[in-house]
Amino acid sequence: MIRLEIKGNKEQTITNVCNECGRKIKDLELQDIVVAPKPDMSLTLHDSEGKDITRTEIDEDLKVSKCVNCA
Ligand SMILES: [Zn+2]
Repeated sequence: MIRLEIKGNKEQTITNVCNECGRKIKDLELQDIVVAPKPDMSLTLHDSEGKDITRTEIDEDLKVSKCVNCA
C-alpha cells in the first residue's frame, strides 16, 4: 500500500509499504501515484521525463504489496 507522510508543512514522503507488516518496500515519487485527470478537465500531467501521465488508477501492485518476508 501507499503511505504518505507529511512532516511539518512542506516535506512529504511517499513510500510503498507492505500490506501485511508495514515494512517499507520502496520510495515513491509523486509521479508514481498521480493519476490522469478526467478527460473533461483541460489539464495534462507530465512525469519528470516529460511524458504524459495517462494512468487512470494507481498501479495495482502499489495498492496491494508484500515485502520479501510476507510474499
Ligand atoms: Zn511484510
